[in-house]
Amino acid sequence: MHCPFCSHAETKVIDSRLSGGGRSVRRRRECLSCHERYTTFETAELVMPRLIKRDRTREPFDEAKLRNGMVRALEKRPVKTEVIEEALARITHELQTMGEREIPSLQLGEMVMEELRKLDEVAYVRFASVYRSFQDITEFQEEIQRLREMTDSEKGRDQLSLLPESKK
Ligand SMILES: [Zn+2]
Repeated sequence: MHCPFCSHAETKVIDSRLSGGGRSVRRRRECLSCHERYTTFETAELVMPRLIKRDRTREPFDEAKLRNGMVRALEKRPVKTEVIEEALARITHELQTMGEREIPSLQLGEMVMEELRKLDEVAYVRFASVYRSFQDITEFQEEIQRLREMTDSEKGRDQLSLLPESKK
């Protein structure tokens, strides 16, 4: 950074030490031009981005709300709470490391869908149907078709069990 006294671009570090229990670095600097001394602190910025909603309003990231949404989609599905927590931790970590101040809530929705798709196909479709608010049944069927193609190409495993129990 430039010298806060004379705006000269070059400074030298005359002392550097950890502070805040190791969470930041405190540097004593001296301006090479005016020779004033000052201190800077360097910390990692791990800020949760705010979410830009469809109507362009912003809202803070809410982990409880995200967890609720995922748990609701996974209701009565054979997925352990622990596994849901791991998926949640991956999402929050990704959000923190993006370094963005704000992201479209749609982008978060896509991240959640990606995690749910790996956990449970039924939960994925449930979440997607609410999230993408499918306009009609055709759109919903297209999504299921898309999901089928994805899973087929990934693993070539069994058919999706999306039919209600009684129809199997
Ligand atoms: Zn200076």
